[in-house]
Amino acid sequence: MRKWILPVVEARLPITQIKALIRDVPDFPKPGILFKDITPLLADAGGFALAIEQLAIRVRPHAPAALVAIESRGFIFGAALAQQLKLPLLLVRKPGKLPAKKVSLGYQLEYGSDQIEMHADAVIKGQTYVIVDDVIATGGTAAAAARLIEMQGGRVACCAFLIELGFLKGRERLANHTVASVLQY
Ligand code: AMP
Repeated sequence: MRKWILPVVEARLPITQIKALIRDVPDFPKPGILFKDITPLLADAGGFALAIEQLAIRVRPHAPAALVAIESRGFIFGAALAQQLKLPLLLVRKPGKLPAKKVSLGYQLEYGSDQIEMHADAVIKGQTYVIVDDVIATGGTAAAAARLIEMQGGRVACCAFLIELGFLKGRERLANHTVASVLQY
């Protein structure tokens, strides 16, 4: 019996350890939002390394040409993951941050709209990319990033997140894409 139980427990251990380092902050940045604060995880070298390892396990099989990280907390995980997987890192940024020639895409939020940008020479037509961010909530940001990559002829093999807020149904918004997450709430 132990033979069967132990490997399962061991496999779940990193997830439990990572989850213990995510702090819930109620009513931030607005009343009613339960903010998933990743700073305790970043402050724990072992926990952060485990999180990157777990993301790498999910991203590696897609064999992307590069990772595409979403501003701003996506940069933290995207950069570490790019180093772990020895992959190039491309940036999706908020308007007005990128210095060279850009491509932009506006998208709708629950209340209002937003815009994201990439450098026009970042995506190579026909190549495969994995999008990385810290949290998937409604999926609107990642869906816009995927569209921006695809508009330029890139292929999005997977959208990978440390945290998935399942009750906000981000997966449905990304229905045409593979979604991977390390922690589910
Ligand atoms: P969405 O476009 O709704 O999937 O929102 C995703 C973006 O908002 C990510 O870049 C997250 O960093 C951030 N975000 C949304 N909800 C939360 C939350 N509850 N806790 C932390 N970050 C969040």
